[in-house]
Amino acid sequence: MKLNRRQFLESAGIATAALAAWKIPKGVLASPAPAASKVATDLPGSLGAKEVPSVCEMCFWRCPIIGKVKNGRIVKIEGNPKSPTNGHRVCARGNSGIQLIYDPDRLKYPMKRVGARGEGKWARISWKEALDEIAYNMEKTRKKYGPSSLALFDHGASAEFYRQIFKGMGTENYTNEPAFFQCMGAVSLAYVMTYGYKIAERVDMSHSKVMLFFGTHLGENAHLAQVREYVTGLQNGAKLIVVDPRFSAPANKADIWLPIRPGTDTALLLAWINYVIQNDLYDKEFVQMHCKGFNELKEGVKGYSMEWAARICDLKLHDIKKAIDMLAASRPHVAIHSGRHSAWYGRGDVQRHRCLAILTALFGAVAVPGGIYFPTSVDLGESDCVECEAPEDVEEPETSLKDNYPFASYFGSPTAEIIRATRTGKPYPIKLWGIAGVNIIHTISNPYETMDALRKLDFVFSIEILPTESATWADIVLPEANYLERYDKVYVNHDLTPYVTVRQPVVKPLFEAKSPFWIAREMAKRLKLDCFHCKSEEEYLDEELEDIDLSLAKLNKEGGLVRLKGHPYRDPNKPIKFSTDSGKIELFSGSFDDEDMDPIPKFEPILAPPKGYARLVYGRVPTHTFSRTMNNLWLHNECPEPMLWLNKEVAEKMGIKYGDRVVIVNQDGYRSANLVKVKVTPGIRPDTVYLPHGFGSRSPLLTKAYKQGVSDQFLITRYILDPFFGGSSHRTDFVKLIKDGKTLDIPELRPVPPEIPRFEIKKV
Ligand code: SF4
Repeated sequence: MKLNRRQFLESAGIATAALAAWKIPKGVLASPAPAASKVATDLPGSLGAKEVPSVCEMCFWRCPIIGKVKNGRIVKIEGNPKSPTNGHRVCARGNSGIQLIYDPDRLKYPMKRVGARGEGKWARISWKEALDEIAYNMEKTRKKYGPSSLALFDHGASAEFYRQIFKGMGTENYTNEPAFFQCMGAVSLAYVMTYGYKIAERVDMSHSKVMLFFGTHLGENAHLAQVREYVTGLQNGAKLIVVDPRFSAPANKADIWLPIRPGTDTALLLAWINYVIQNDLYDKEFVQMHCKGFNELKEGVKGYSMEWAARICDLKLHDIKKAIDMLAASRPHVAIHSGRHSAWYGRGDVQRHRCLAILTALFGAVAVPGGIYFPTSVDLGESDCVECEAPEDVEEPETSLKDNYPFASYFGSPTAEIIRATRTGKPYPIKLWGIAGVNIIHTISNPYETMDALRKLDFVFSIEILPTESATWADIVLPEANYLERYDKVYVNHDLTPYVTVRQPVVKPLFEAKSPFWIAREMAKRLKLDCFHCKSEEEYLDEELEDIDLSLAKLNKEGGLVRLKGHPYRDPNKPIKFSTDSGKIELFSGSFDDEDMDPIPKFEPILAPPKGYARLVYGRVPTHTFSRTMNNLWLHNECPEPMLWLNKEVAEKMGIKYGDRVVIVNQDGYRSANLVKVKVTPGIRPDTVYLPHGFGSRSPLLTKAYKQGVSDQFLITRYILDPFFGGSSHRTDFVKLIKDGKTLDIPELRPVPPEIPRFEIKKV
């Protein structure tokens, strides 16, 4: 597979009341960043403020921003008008970055644990002491148990710096972001195996005639540039088909909403693929020129009829036919969204996304207006400024945590396997974890197992901005500068109009917070790793920018962002060379076949809820990012707690009214720690309940988020590992509700067909 490191690591992406109460320590707020305008302090509001270009990280979409600074304080955040994607705009979370920087709960100094793990009781120590202790423990653990006993969980823009340290220590147990194993893994692998590229949601919705979303919640999942493209598409008259058990924000705007039985999406897609082939609705010329394996595909899907799919998926035959006919009539200008969070059922997730990729190819919706498009290649300098190599004499463990997953190497070591090895000592002991920028207790399936593993470790360190649950388990906590206070890597955005930009400090770090580059370099020094060859972050960025004839200074002269020439669309007369082994779009996956995985997707039934239970699904609210923003004052005020969606007919039978408060209990007897308000609605299937993700923090150090609402994560205790790469499922748990102390069965209003087996309740 011809993916270079940069392409692979490139992410898919990616009121002022409280300020008065905030005491700012003397001398820590002078802005070091390039001044784009002089400051006139006598003007009201943000007028006359110094403007500093940077990049948002309130979520991982990385919108270019302008931070406005007055008297050393950030007073406003706006979109960078030079950005072709967001322009002046930022979303609610982007605006609220101000409240992250001035959050009184922020971690202020390095600290050492003095209470039990998980209690969050620490004593202040110096940076020297903290870093010395981390280095001592890393070295000691490596000597005693071997390099594989070290593991890193990381996420976000700064992750690469810390990952280099763990690579340099000789371990392969860095997770390349839990976000892959719990989020993007299946979709990335499916598109890489089909097209040779991670599509990473590059879907040209603004020029499409019909859009298709499978469980994609744009608008709730508020990635600004993408939401703009989607809304532009709608404004331009595009039709929208939404397949989702819930009447989500996009279902609300859909021409056709298909409230599918959870777990049967692949059945519908396979029937659609068969229907398109049998009825000659595909783009023959495109398929002939660009695809490999059409005959095998035709043969493989011929048994999946529309009638069968309608029954399995619990949908009306007329509706599913109308939807696929609508798509076919507008090909190739159809935006079949690749999806983002794809860790649903463990088994079948990769194949579900393969089906989306295949349907896209059959319609020829590839590199045309309205279809998927590929990243314009931009060759940044391959700086060796931050580059650690594993030691040559490192002893490979006899058994790798990736051994059972032929495609895990694309993503690092599966998080679930790291946790299992830590708990059991098999196939080898893992004794030390680093956790950087990720609240693993709120991210990884079965937090009880994660906490059990944390208890068993010899040493844990955490690099964070806020005292999250995961940070409270650390022996040493390091306060990281947040995105408004630091440099990160160069970002090349590969959208329709690509651009290059850089995250840079809008103000100096508060308190004793330090940048990821500084922290990682100090670790490297202590561990005697020859990894950081640049004197400063500025030098590092200049090296990266050099090959496209830019420097940090030049970029800032251009307002912090330079647009590049994009080539998103193909020449219809020229064949494209795809980065797959065959150079074609692989409808039949040779790589999967080589590993004895199905080269053509098949439908594998996903276990249905046991009698009396409904499936728990989750999603996002537009004012929050994962569990990261619940302590942000402005965002907390907007949405302090979630509501549980329950079907109206089901609620009536259970005697539950809108606004009633209930406890949720799952199939293993785990209960929600708090009561949750019920939203009684016809907009969800009777066999499914829905809870927005990320609430119900258990960290008492997060004064606004603590115990606010209910956590979906603490109800996700059963998971299935994806056989391709080891991702862990998040939609394989079932719940009942407890009202006024009485456990209520959820009545079954939609019978389960005999081909779909049920989950059997077993005591754990
Ligand atoms: S979508 Fe919002 S939170 Fe995410 S990067 Fe853009 S402005 Fe920031």
